[in-house]
Amino acid sequence: MSKLFDSHCHPQFPQYDDDRGAMLVRALDAGVSMICVGTDLKTSKSGIELAQQYEGMWATVGLHPNDNLGERFDAGQYRELLKQPKVVAMGEIGLDYYRTENSKDQQIQKERFIQQLECAKEMKMPLVLHCRDGKTGSTGPAYRDMTEILKAGYAIHGGVVHSFTGSLDEVKKFLDLGLYIGFNGIITFARQYDDVVRYVPLDRILLETDAPYLTPEPHRGKRNEPLHVDNILDKLCELRGERVDKAGEITTSNCKYLFKLD
Ligand SMILES: [Zn+2]
Repeated sequence: MSKLFDSHCHPQFPQYDDDRGAMLVRALDAGVSMICVGTDLKTSKSGIELAQQYEGMWATVGLHPNDNLGERFDAGQYRELLKQPKVVAMGEIGLDYYRTENSKDQQIQKERFIQQLECAKEMKMPLVLHCRDGKTGSTGPAYRDMTEILKAGYAIHGGVVHSFTGSLDEVKKFLDLGLYIGFNGIITFARQYDDVVRYVPLDRILLETDAPYLTPEPHRGKRNEPLHVDNILDKLCELRGERVDKAGEITTSNCKYLFKLD
């Protein structure tokens, strides 16, 4: 397997408490580098600690839209974390109307999202964006709200819309903003995104596992891990009629370019 990049995973999560080291070495030995994504203060800190222990691992810090709606975004603390060695982006941050249906809470999400965008802009950091629409229909207000917010100059240091599950129209708006699109195991078992997967130019795609979640075929039913990023690459190439070695190389260099790893 050529060198691949898992641009979004959570190896600091408790699902790996029993075998974290072995799980990471499996991936790193196979040539898989990774970005360890934080979702609140605690997992941002533990992600940094992990990334600082291993070569081939970097970390991001941020407050996920669904985690702790009661928690105030503490810009001072996150700013300090963003200065730490191996921290390469702010995220995952964004809007999730799927798990947050109440409009008052969606308003809190938006405010917190904007506070974090301000922080990332000030620190000149790229963004790891999480966006999920509400349960009714595939096109909806979360993607629309996010592009509207980002248009105010927040995407200038680049970013990725991770785990993209929007429509063709929505992906075009993110591409216009200069953002990368992250695809994961969802493309191996759900067929409604095939057109989007074929549409996005290869030089704007990042591979990700979102491990421990969203296990790709043929490992469904088991815990996910960064090693399985090759299953996502294989499916991507099958859908696009692309050569695996070429797509592996390009998606890896996309990731290095976005997160300034060279
Ligand atoms: Zn995630």
